[in-house]
Amino acid sequence: QAKSFGKNQYFFFDRLLKQQLDRRLLIENELKFAVNRGEILVYYQPKYMLEPEALIGFEALLRWDHPTFGFISPGEAIPIAEETGQINALGYYMLDEVFHHVKQWQTEHDFFGVVSINVSAIQLKQVDFYAQINFLLNKHQLDSKFIELELTESAMMEVDDVLPKLEQLKALGLKLSLDDFGTGYSSLFVLKELPVDTIKIDQAFVFAINDPRSKNIIKTILDIGSNLGLQVIAEGIENTDSIQRLKDLGCLFGQGYYYARPMPLNEVTAYINRHHDKG
Ligand code: C2E
Ligand code: MG
Ligand code: MG
Ligand code: MG
Repeated sequence: QAKSFGKNQYFFFDRLLKQQLDRRLLIENELKFAVNRGEILVYYQPKYMLEPEALIGFEALLRWDHPTFGFISPGEAIPIAEETGQINALGYYMLDEVFHHVKQWQTEHDFFGVVSINVSAIQLKQVDFYAQINFLLNKHQLDSKFIELELTESAMMEVDDVLPKLEQLKALGLKLSLDDFGTGYSSLFVLKELPVDTIKIDQAFVFAINDPRSKNIIKTILDIGSNLGLQVIAEGIENTDSIQRLKDLGCLFGQGYYYARPMPLNEVTAYINRHHDKG
């Protein structure tokens, strides 16, 4: 009895593993066509100054709208694209699209906020990453100061010669930001050397802001930011309570579902016109 139970269990996990592998292979294969079929979309999430409340920019987020499987989350697709190297083509497409959109918002809607784009370590490792950015800035005649590249702490740590690479990008006039801060493993010693403009407090700390330990971590990150002269932005603001607590801690900037969820391109210009004080 016990033996056959064990055997069933084995089959169960075997099947589960096979299903996972099938899905992975399916995603990997479908990704090959995603860009050309127009399935890759850019969604934009507003970023805010907390007080007085003001729209300061957007974060671009990849969305994959597959004709039969529907939306496949970046959390699932991006790690696979990173393993296969497909992230380089995807990332390039994102940069090209975003630069185009930002230029349009500037010329047609007078919007000059900073727009950030997530960049994977694999992308940064490409020898011609800098050349890609430089080419696209020229292609779209876009002033680099309106673009911010978001890299996670762990991404920055896994790239060889990351400092010269980042310095080179900084020299182009872009902004750099350290995403999901507090979840990686860079020491303060490393942080002080990184040529970043912004650190993003990971949303996990903001969700748990009522826990005194999380609150203290947020406070510490804000202190580090102000000591190093960096802008600090909180992610994952879902309610007025966290805004109040963040303000009390001296946090100036944030983004999250409370302000707005990431939205498709066709909603952005109306959003800008409603929320942007052109003063
Ligand atoms: P991230 O860069 O840290 O982006 C924040 C994620 O939190 C986004 O998920 C966003 O939709 C979500 N979010 C924003 N506000 C809230 C909130 O108030 N509550 C909750 N629960 N979630 C919130 P998303 O779009 O699914 O992206 C997940 C991750 O995938 C991103 O984390 C980023 O690491 C990666 N990613 C997304 N787009 C790209 C891309 O174009 N390139 C690369 N390399 N990575 C990307
Ligand atoms: Mg990000
Ligand atoms: Mg983040
Ligand atoms: Mg994240």
